[in-house]
Amino acid sequence: MFQLLAPTLTDGPFGDPGLLVDLKGEKRALLFDLGDLSRLPPRVLMRIDDIFVSHTHMDHFAGFDGWLRVVLGRKQRVVLTGGPGFVDQVEHKLRAYTWNVVQRYPVALQLDVRELRPDGRWQRACFSSRSGFAREDAEPPALPAGVLHDDALLRVRAAFVDHGMPCLAFAIDGKPRPRVAPDRLAALGVTRGAWLRELKAAVLAGAPAETPIRVRWRDRAGAHEALRMVGELAAAVLDVVPGERIGYVTDLRFSDDNRARLRALLAGVDRLVIESVFLDADRAHAERKNHLTARQAGCIARELGARIVVPMHFSSRYLARGDELRAELRAAHAAGPARSA
Ligand SMILES: [Zn+2]
Ligand SMILES: [Zn+2]
Repeated sequence: MFQLLAPTLTDGPFGDPGLLVDLKGEKRALLFDLGDLSRLPPRVLMRIDDIFVSHTHMDHFAGFDGWLRVVLGRKQRVVLTGGPGFVDQVEHKLRAYTWNVVQRYPVALQLDVRELRPDGRWQRACFSSRSGFAREDAEPPALPAGVLHDDALLRVRAAFVDHGMPCLAFAIDGKPRPRVAPDRLAALGVTRGAWLRELKAAVLAGAPAETPIRVRWRDRAGAHEALRMVGELAAAVLDVVPGERIGYVTDLRFSDDNRARLRALLAGVDRLVIESVFLDADRAHAERKNHLTARQAGCIARELGARIVVPMHFSSRYLARGDELRAELRAAHAAGPARSA
């Protein structure tokens, strides 16, 4: 089955946490967290149109400078979304450099920076290289509660979890996609062509059923053309495939409240990428650090009914023991009643 969302960790399980979600065939990607991005080649960084930052501890935000250095003068616009204080923090990063020549770059970069507060209010400002990244306050984005991004192919939602500070957990929901049913296409007596692409785009964009589509096709008898409507064509030749759902969850305490928030955000998720920082034997230490153990991460994955669970954010204290962290996570994901910390 065609999967639109191609997720990969940006820095391996022991590195800084981060998830790149490439959209196959779309030449664009989303990035969750700005830690060490040095493993991502510039052509990949250039595809990223939307960046989401869970919180601004250094391991999630220190990659901002390296990222900016690659896209500056080459890319036109990027949207960055984070939690409380984020707009000021991006501004402070930008203020740390001297921008006396950047106005002359042929390609101007605009950063559209959005900050979601725990009470649901937004703050937003834009920073353009044309004006030396001077802050221009902007209207809040027009998005439903809990939604950070919405386009024809996917939606990103978030909820705040407690990490001794507010931290965003993310849901990346691929939207249902139309797929051509070849047997029914043949039964209709038409062949593939540009009109099918047009039809799928119209369905994805939510076009009214009576929208006309000019169907052009060729067969042995020659070229044909017919005017049909989106609704009848879609019913005749398209199936709807549910979109994949991915969760990106880091950093947080193992508390009842956090677990309830994650259930509300991510129940039934297909793939859960989740921090598994410590072994459960070091649970007291994990609690002091406001992090999960691998066992706790596995419990959360099971509570959510996650089909696939991908651990990350391993503590460097277990450098040669990654397999133990993975085994503990897998065991908790597979069986046993959930346990409070
Ligand atoms: Zn943190
Ligand atoms: Zn962290």
